[in-house]
Amino acid sequence: MSAVGSNAASTVTVALLFPDLLGTYGDSGNAVILARRLAWRGFDARLVTVRSGDPVPETCEVYVVGGGEDLPQALAARQLGSRRGGPLRKAVDGGAAVLAVCAGLQILGSSFVGPDGVEADGLALLDCTTRRGAGPRAVGEIVVNPESELGLPALTGYENHAGVTTVGPDSRPLGRVVRGVGNGDGSGTDGVRSGRVIGTYLHGPVLARNPALADLILSTVVGDLEPVDDSESEELRRERLMAGNSTASGRRGRRFIAGLRR
Ligand code: GLN
Repeated sequence: MSAVGSNAASTVTVALLFPDLLGTYGDSGNAVILARRLAWRGFDARLVTVRSGDPVPETCEVYVVGGGEDLPQALAARQLGSRRGGPLRKAVDGGAAVLAVCAGLQILGSSFVGPDGVEADGLALLDCTTRRGAGPRAVGEIVVNPESELGLPALTGYENHAGVTTVGPDSRPLGRVVRGVGNGDGSGTDGVRSGRVIGTYLHGPVLARNPALADLILSTVVGDLEPVDDSESEELRRERLMAGNSTASGRRGRRFIAGLRR
């Protein structure tokens, strides 16, 4: 992929937060995807990996927080600050974009459940609360039709979580679940978004599976992006859209495909 000269002077830094705590199901790959897609457009893209215990920078343009088990989730939350302040809130107030997956999404909400089963404060960068669901864990392939104003095609991912998330009035869901569980609160939605902060239950990594979502996040910080050749990831996306779909053939299968946002 050739770099485009006009963006060469612009440095964009993507911070990958605590991959040693939060990095299940390839979530750290989301940061790589963001940096590569910037570099393909000629940006001077830098990827900063922030490990547990390292100071969290406040001046990066994009932050990526992945998923993880309950204990590392609580440890990560403690290092990110609180609803009253801290490095991630400062960065978001300064215009940074954030992608948060699963445990990351829960931490960015108002509250989540810690490893001891007790409610813990989140960063309140998203208006949502997460409780522990009464049913079995949500595990498996998930397909989501994003809200139409986002202009995105259907998203595919993999989910594995016990948390059930309810979106409050100051945020919007990412989209409606076509297959799988997502937020799991009975609303039929997945994800939470507020300004440049997007949370979702989709692992994958979600941005490798859904490059249009990567470009949407990037465009909020660098403006419109020229298209790149996504034919290979499109093939993967199509294959994943059908994966695990028991109605893959026949009339029901065609109805399933017809219901997906293009
Ligand atoms: N510990 C959280 C839950 O089970 C998040 C899991 C994850 O990030 N995969 O809900």
